[in-house]
Amino acid sequence: MKELEARILKDGNAIADGVLKVDQFLTHQVDPDLMMKVGQTFADYFKEAGITKVVTIETSGIAPALYAAQALGVPMIFARKSKSLTMKEELLTSSVYSFTKQTTFQVSVSNKFLTADDHALLIDDFLANGQAAEGLIEVCQQAGASIAGLGIVIEKSFQDGRSLLEKYPFPVVSLARIASLKENEITFTEADI
Ligand code: 5GP
Repeated sequence: MKELEARILKDGNAIADGVLKVDQFLTHQVDPDLMMKVGQTFADYFKEAGITKVVTIETSGIAPALYAAQALGVPMIFARKSKSLTMKEELLTSSVYSFTKQTTFQVSVSNKFLTADDHALLIDDFLANGQAAEGLIEVCQQAGASIAGLGIVIEKSFQDGRSLLEKYPFPVVSLARIASLKENEITFTEADI
């Protein structure tokens, strides 16, 4: 998605250890126009897939996932990183190692929102080593839900996430794929859509 690549070049900052800061438009301040186009692009790609739910992880996956869900006309679920006292029902839970925070956290979804009747589109802001995506996949597997695909806003292709996910039968679709990330120098490889 050329507009996204241009925005990464304009507002993205490469910081230490292969981390890209995009807090101008995605991970802190959110550009709704750009996120709407991101969500629409995922929705267009998966429109014939019979999606019933869009599933992401809080916090930064929510904006693109919500727009994709709206365009597909289905609900969006965000896996929660902390268990709320109001979550009394049975939870689908997975452990995720965070690349940026270097800690392990749990993600949880209530089993009343994701069931074996669902065909899920997974969405996240970044793909690095694939741990967050695997957490979402595990939550879907626990629910018995099938997975139509994984939509990633920014993939860092120099990390292992994509190869880790190749074992799954569904497509991984990234809108921007970063080949290398150095201070003041971000290069892209061909994106999926
Ligand atoms: P993974 O689980 O694939 O290793 O990393 C994906 C998760 O880590 C994403 O949900 C995202 O929150 C965070 N993440 C990974 N790499 C980056 C990065 O370069 N910049 C930012 N802002 N977040 C990242």
